[in-house]
Amino acid sequence: MSESTPTPETPARSRDFVREMVAEDVKSGKYGRPVKTRFPPEPNGYLHIGHAKSICLNFGVASEFDGGCNLRFDDTNPFTEDIKYVNAIKHDLAWLGFTPAAEFYASDYFEQLYEFAELLVSKGKAYVDSQTEEEIRTGRGTVTQAGTPSPHRDRSVAENLDLLRRMKAGEFADGAHVLRAKIDMAHPNMIMRDPLLIRIRKASHYRRGDAWCIYPLYDYAHGLSDAIEGITHSLCTLEFKDNKDIYDWLVHEVGFERPPEQTEFARLRLDYTVLSKRKLLRLVNEGHVAGWDDPRMPTIAGIRRRGVTPEGIRAFAETVGIARKDAQTELATYEHAVRNDLNMRVPRVLCVVNPLKVVLTNYPEGASEELEASYYPHDVPKTGSRMVPFSRELYIDRDDFMEDPPKKFFRLAPGREVRLRYGFFITCHEVVKDASGAIVELRCTYDPATRGGNAPDGRKVQGTIHWVSAAHALDCELRMYDKLFAVAEPDDIPEGTDFVSTLNPDSLQVVKGAKVEPSVGNDAVGTRYQFERTGYFISDPDSQPGALVFNRTVTLKDSWEKTKARG
Ligand code: ATP
Ligand code: MG
Repeated sequence: MSESTPTPETPARSRDFVREMVAEDVKSGKYGRPVKTRFPPEPNGYLHIGHAKSICLNFGVASEFDGGCNLRFDDTNPFTEDIKYVNAIKHDLAWLGFTPAAEFYASDYFEQLYEFAELLVSKGKAYVDSQTEEEIRTGRGTVTQAGTPSPHRDRSVAENLDLLRRMKAGEFADGAHVLRAKIDMAHPNMIMRDPLLIRIRKASHYRRGDAWCIYPLYDYAHGLSDAIEGITHSLCTLEFKDNKDIYDWLVHEVGFERPPEQTEFARLRLDYTVLSKRKLLRLVNEGHVAGWDDPRMPTIAGIRRRGVTPEGIRAFAETVGIARKDAQTELATYEHAVRNDLNMRVPRVLCVVNPLKVVLTNYPEGASEELEASYYPHDVPKTGSRMVPFSRELYIDRDDFMEDPPKKFFRLAPGREVRLRYGFFITCHEVVKDASGAIVELRCTYDPATRGGNAPDGRKVQGTIHWVSAAHALDCELRMYDKLFAVAEPDDIPEGTDFVSTLNPDSLQVVKGAKVEPSVGNDAVGTRYQFERTGYFISDPDSQPGALVFNRTVTLKDSWEKTKARG
């Protein structure tokens, strides 16, 4: 069984403040060129769901306004970046369903950024500082106190040019000199107190090798890379608000006409989740998870392996929307979007998590038959069915039987009749136990007249349960995932607490010996299902013939809400 192709989504969108602004700018012809956005990841880790929000915004705005969105690798730090991250990011972006207008690397701009540096020096707008890192830091002053000018601040243009060229030529050790913008050591925005633009790093770059030993800092590379590409709207998260001044200063001093402008929006914050590549890298490196694509990870790779679809992620981003202020998003919001998407898309099949054998004493031994079972319920606009085998020995879930049931238990119990999904009515007559008193088997009868699920005499049953035929079912392992963290805001824990200590020790429960209907046996790895009454699942790449593995994507209902309601 394979999923059919998704129907195009994107429901009617209410305009957020970013789209309002872009619409204005398009109307006024502010930039005199088509809308151009960019998504600028640093290739120092895998993309996560927070990046997906930024991707949906940047690519969404570009396509809605007939523009384009560039993918630009912001790869200016030789210590942390790697080609494997570049490849993973490209793969994840394509999987999410977005095609960049162009693919660029900030490291390809090193030459140009160097030219701009000479230009700034020539204009008297930048100088080479030879103070130590520590001296530079203390010289910046504080929020309430102006900084102190560097003793090198008034070097001549000629001396600065000479030093800059020799920095580039590799004549100096790391940290011996830096290039700084010459702005205002008393500026109310601390970032504007002669920010560092370029530093010496005698390190190999994953792309440029040893061609360069000076590297631009984020603020220097970022805005100018935007300007080089002709970006119009540079959308970034709120923590860069204070960087806007230097962004504007640089693109103007270098002389770009109608330069891009930066606008900040709220970053995604999701309950029970950390969204920082640095922290996610630690989880991977320290073995708290199985890798970047561990299905508990909030990475695109993890989310994909968990079974979420690109459309589900995009629908989630849509629900969260674009706001000016940071806010925490509840996990239930995420799961709701994921569940809604899967509900409309995936086939229903039968899987018994914790099998209890049922013997139908009035069904002929050695016989079997096939029952037609539809893949989709009536309220899903999809059709299709398969045949499921039925025989004398079945498995049902242990949870669906109680020897001594309370009033509201509508499933199987001694003397009680229930419906087997797509099958027959059965009645339990005898409970077989082992020496320890554990229930090992139920002896039941079935009513042949109820084939298909209804009794000709109109009698009703209160419960319908799922089942599989014992002889035909396939063994499988179910990986039941839960929240990776035990606290709602693992990013906001008391100072001195390691976020790793807030991991949820029960985030993975492996169920072995589950039984799934045979129709799934030949499906490709990565096929998604709803296991009826159990949850949404996807077959995992760890599956082997005869030893299938399924990851639980999400439960059918919000178990958290239920717990809250009960408590
Ligand atoms: P991290 O702290 O995880 O490394 P980052 O911001 O340093 O995140 P980048 O690779 O620099 O990671 O991010 C690329 C783009 O994605 C940036 O424009 C950034 O603002 C955006 N982004 C990162 N995290 C989020 C988030 N949680 N919500 C929305 N956008 C995000
Ligand atoms: Mg970053």
